[in-house]
Amino acid sequence: MNNPHKNSIKQLEKVAEILREQYDDKQLFDKAVEKLKSPDRIIEGTIRVKMDSGKTVAFKAFRSQHNNAAGPYKGGIRFHQDVTKEEVMALSTWMTWKCSVTGIPYGGAKGGVIVDPKKLSMSELEKLSRAYAKMIAPYIGPWMDVPAPDVNTTGQIMAWMVDEYEKTALKRYKTYIENPIATFTGKPLLLGGSKGRMEATGLGGFHILEQLAKKLKMTPKNTTVAIQGFGNVGYWFAYYVYKAGYKIVGLSDSKGAIYNLKGLDPQKVLACKQAGSTIGNCSCGVKGCSNKGTKITNSQLLELKVDILAPAALENVINAQNAKSIKAKVVLELANGPTTPEADEILFKNKVIVIPDILANSGGVTVSYFEWAQNLQGYYWEKDLVLSRLKGLMDDAFFRMWQLKTQHKVSARIATYMSAVKKVVDIMILRGSI
Ligand code: NAD
Repeated sequence: MNNPHKNSIKQLEKVAEILREQYDDKQLFDKAVEKLKSPDRIIEGTIRVKMDSGKTVAFKAFRSQHNNAAGPYKGGIRFHQDVTKEEVMALSTWMTWKCSVTGIPYGGAKGGVIVDPKKLSMSELEKLSRAYAKMIAPYIGPWMDVPAPDVNTTGQIMAWMVDEYEKTALKRYKTYIENPIATFTGKPLLLGGSKGRMEATGLGGFHILEQLAKKLKMTPKNTTVAIQGFGNVGYWFAYYVYKAGYKIVGLSDSKGAIYNLKGLDPQKVLACKQAGSTIGNCSCGVKGCSNKGTKITNSQLLELKVDILAPAALENVINAQNAKSIKAKVVLELANGPTTPEADEILFKNKVIVIPDILANSGGVTVSYFEWAQNLQGYYWEKDLVLSRLKGLMDDAFFRMWQLKTQHKVSARIATYMSAVKKVVDIMILRGSI
């Protein structure tokens, strides 16, 4: 069976092999790598929720704190029926690398509860969220571990968790808790959320695309883009790409996909969807609607002959079965884990540039960092400031990756991991914590 934690270890070992030669003290480097193969701490428990029926149901819950050399642990909380301890451990490891890539002062963590939240009523969901916050309360805090939303968790859920954390911490320490809202990010604006968080991931991906396009000498007008997924990340990425003049020729969501060589306007497609249509099936009747073209399947969308393919929906969509048929010059991984390791090797052999998720979608955690910084300051930034600081960090991360890619003649994924792992190892050595 596929074990994501074992995969994350293999990935680390592959990068460590290249980095090792740069270290005089190889024993110390090996020790650091060994430590990074497992999380610092795993909090594991069973939370009990009294359901609307009066019955009490138990749910298995986890929080994995992988590494905090660079700063407090940071990472989302996932509510999903397929959550496993190994998955949470792997995701926490990838968070360490993602935070390291953009240079934000955090380590990595992830949380998860084995539950299908769609089967819960609103009040059951609130009770579950509060119970989870209570379970992890002793281990989190603005300078300890800063959770955030992930799959199936929202700003509302973060608001309940902040409230529960505050109550639990007050009871525990019997004194005023400093900055409790800085313990969670991804909060609603009314409760200390940051302006610009909504578009951050898609916009961050767009900044990476812009820098890459310059390196590859692609001009927006002559560059075609296909995007799988039209949710938060896919829509905002499409919005900025279109605004910059790139030609979006393929778009999709879970209900369908469309292809149009003349180009698609994402705002118009969204308006059409909001009027009750699905992608590829326009029934809005609005003149000039952009949701028009050839209806294709999601698998066909991935195999379009385009310059840029941006998977922004699900994991493992580019795999050993379809990797050979990918015709894009660049795969920009906006979703988490859209390319399997086997597919990655095939794409590398076929000279497809794959910009890995930990770089391409790191705009989200970067603005979460800004949210935390604003909460700690008690001073809130205008959206322009948030977005310009986001651009600065994304561009720098891209240049670090590109320099390593060129110097070591490795894939963009390996170069990104080299940059991320090296920084964490160097901090661990500097601290003398190995
Ligand atoms: P979302 O729920 O807002 O959107 C997901 C989109 O994918 C929807 O349009 C949905 O219709 C589409 N989709 C679902 N199944 C599909 C299928 N089989 N084929 C094609 N499309 C399908 O989610 P999101 O927040 O946009 O996240 C998308 C991805 O980006 C996820 O992998 C997520 O982990 C990752 N990510 C999100 C953020 C963020 O800030 N939201 C940050 C980092 C990474």
